[in-house]
Amino acid sequence: MKPVLALVGRPNVGKSTLFNRLTKSRDAIVADFAGLTRDRHYGNARFDKHEFIVIDTGGFEPTADNGIYKEMARQTQQAVAEADVVVFVVDARGGISAQDHDIANYLRRLGKPTILVANKAEGMKEGAQLVEFYELGLGEVLPVSASHGQGIRDMMAQALAPL
Ligand code: GDP
Ligand code: MG
Repeated sequence: MKPVLALVGRPNVGKSTLFNRLTKSRDAIVADFAGLTRDRHYGNARFDKHEFIVIDTGGFEPTADNGIYKEMARQTQQAVAEADVVVFVVDARGGISAQDHDIANYLRRLGKPTILVANKAEGMKEGAQLVEFYELGLGEVLPVSASHGQGIRDMMAQALAPL
């Protein structure tokens, strides 16, 4: 069985862009507005000699005022349940949000191998802007740029290490 890696995080942090980068496909829909990906999305990926499966999350079909959040939570939970390792994506430019805290709390309680990556970190000076994400209590924050292809090797080395 190939290991399964789930990409989770609030809308617009770059999960689908990262999915495309890892799977080298254009399958996941990348949108300039939040939440276009309609449902969980699976792709095959490879890092060095390791083959794995990536799950993108983030589609939601709101049915009530807070339906968006319920659907996001449901998708995140299902993806995480299927995953061997979780890649929790936050936005290095947008900073930390209440939703990031909610997801982090959930992941910490779950106790699955989880790595924390701060996307959109291209051109940032190491450190300063990433310090706040240590509050999430998930350990080291790895800067990446999904769109520029930076930090991906380090991220994958960390992600696959526990497997
Ligand atoms: P998702 O909602 O988490 O799946 O996020 P998307 O992958 O759809 O990306 C949301 C927005 O962030 C899009 O406009 C992307 O082009 C942009 N984006 C994604 N990755 C990066 C990155 O590494 N750097 C920058 N500057 N923008 C990015
Ligand atoms: Mg998406």
